[in-house]
Amino acid sequence: MLKTQLFNPVYGPVQSWRYGRSLGIDPIGTCSTCSFDCVYCQLGVIERHSRKREIFVPTDLIQEALAQYYSESGQAEDAIDVVTLSGSGEPTLALNLREIITTIKSISHRPVVVLTNGSLLNQSQVRSALMLADRVAIKVDAVSEDLFQRINRPVGIEIDHFLEHVRTFSDEYSGHLAFQTMILSAWSIDDKARYISFLNNCMPDEVQLNLPKRPKSRLRNLEARENAPRAISPSELQALTCVKGDILESFSALIEQSTGIQTRYPLP
Ligand code: SF4
Repeated sequence: MLKTQLFNPVYGPVQSWRYGRSLGIDPIGTCSTCSFDCVYCQLGVIERHSRKREIFVPTDLIQEALAQYYSESGQAEDAIDVVTLSGSGEPTLALNLREIITTIKSISHRPVVVLTNGSLLNQSQVRSALMLADRVAIKVDAVSEDLFQRINRPVGIEIDHFLEHVRTFSDEYSGHLAFQTMILSAWSIDDKARYISFLNNCMPDEVQLNLPKRPKSRLRNLEARENAPRAISPSELQALTCVKGDILESFSALIEQSTGIQTRYPLP
């Protein structure tokens, strides 16, 4: 029996409004582990709230699963637009992140995307591993301590340090950089001004405003990695309230006008 029949770190492809058809790679595994515990997290319960880097999924298991996906699907490369490291928690917690990206690139010719919460960007080994990715998207949901604690509920990091490390990475990284910002309620004028000033300092290639459209799983379920987790019963899913589209539209226009950075948001 192949090891990947026990836990498959390759899932999807899922349809992403940001990246198209995205083949998911999960470097975290069966126990959801993250340095944040976002109120809207689609994974549901974060079972391990941690900043400790370790090897959760051996690189050879990912290599085997990806090779299997490619060998089973004759048109694998045509069926996907990107390969995305995300999955069951924060991918930069994986100590073998560099090795995983190198392995993916040895098998797939599609761009490698890493979706990160940015909380470990103070570590030079994390920043240097991320340099290998073609695209990096950093979650920047808050610019004030109050919002940071209420939305992301981070372990061991305060907003000023978080923003400083995101800024350092923005200076160093030469690939395509996006900031992803989940809007749960209309922002104050002060928060908007601080955010725009931060963007002007970092100048990412793109801003992606988002809404919590994916339902939150009430329990931990591996299927919650997917966009539309069919195997989860509707009674285990909790729909989240979304702000009206015009709030995203006007914030997006303000960002583009004040920074010149392309800003996208999901259509209703
Ligand atoms: S950073 Fe991502 S995985 Fe971690 S709690 Fe937030 S949404 Fe969930």
